[in-house]
Amino acid sequence: MKEALSFDDVLLVPQYSNIKSRTEVDISNKLDDENIFTLPVISSPMDTITGAEMATSMASNGALGIVHRYNSIEEQLFILSNVEGTKAAAIGMTGDYVERSRNLVDLGEAKILCVDVAHGHHVMMERCLKTLKDDFGDTVHIMAGNVATLEAFDALAKWGADSIRVGIGGGSICSTRLVSGHGVPTLQSVLECARTEYDVKIIADGGIKTVGDMVKAYAAGADFVMVGSMLAGTKETPGQTFKNSEGKKYKVYRGMASSEAQTTWRGKSSTPEGVSTTVPYKGKVSNILSDIVGGIRSGFSYSGTKTFKEFQSKASFIKQTNAGQKESFTHILLK
Ligand code: IMP
Repeated sequence: MKEALSFDDVLLVPQYSNIKSRTEVDISNKLDDENIFTLPVISSPMDTITGAEMATSMASNGALGIVHRYNSIEEQLFILSNVEGTKAAAIGMTGDYVERSRNLVDLGEAKILCVDVAHGHHVMMERCLKTLKDDFGDTVHIMAGNVATLEAFDALAKWGADSIRVGIGGGSICSTRLVSGHGVPTLQSVLECARTEYDVKIIADGGIKTVGDMVKAYAAGADFVMVGSMLAGTKETPGQTFKNSEGKKYKVYRGMASSEAQTTWRGKSSTPEGVSTTVPYKGKVSNILSDIVGGIRSGFSYSGTKTFKEFQSKASFIKQTNAGQKESFTHILLK
């Protein structure tokens, strides 16, 4: 049986460096010639992660936020109208997606559309991507997903996707693997999809817990990372902040296939593939993003590299044992 590696199974080997300060490191990357980001991180199109405030904060920090699609066309247009910066929005691949995408581009000035479905290697995705390409040509960047294999990645690339979200079943709020028995560790999927011959960007999505995981995803071949839980609980996420009996502040973070999310958006729930939970309030997202920038720069400099391209060609993985995994955590905290 084939072995599949996850973020915690691997480490990057430190290499000779002539970098005197982390500020010499340029971590910027592009989705295409028009969409260039100084911080290659994307906030997930989920209803407890990306609304107008998050998308605007991501943009002002050089990153990208994709407005979620769990609303009416009018509501999504309203959210998008309040986004300053690159405007990006999610759509589905059934129902109103043709009308929604047209509205988002024509009235909402969306520059990036994200076809946001759980299992992207699907006959309906082929029809959807071909329709979007016929409609918009190269005027709109089309992101699609999610996929877990190189075969799926190449199929979506052939059908017209400009960037593809890679990762099935790894999300912190995801129960797909428990419910269906299917999935592939996200790092493994990225390693495999990076063998593609298509010039299509790879977005590692699901299960990224730390900045170290982000750096490992880039080293494996991801151009961007998409995150939910790392940004959950921040001031800019949609939804109320509330206090528990001890006065501690919390916010909700939930999977879009959780029973709670399904009930809100469809009025009913069937076979949930996600969970809903609360997370501690984290304050401003800009503080988290500045730690992320520092961590990624540190990662590039440990490999002795100053740019994204250089890092991807030089980074070198080793697999660690269980004892290595224990040593890699701040193990005094485990005592
Ligand atoms: P996280 O960064 O580990 O929290 O994962 C976020 C990712 O989980 C999202 O970008 C989606 O790809 C995925 N996701 C969102 N909602 C669900 C769900 O309900 N079930 C499974 N995966 C989900």
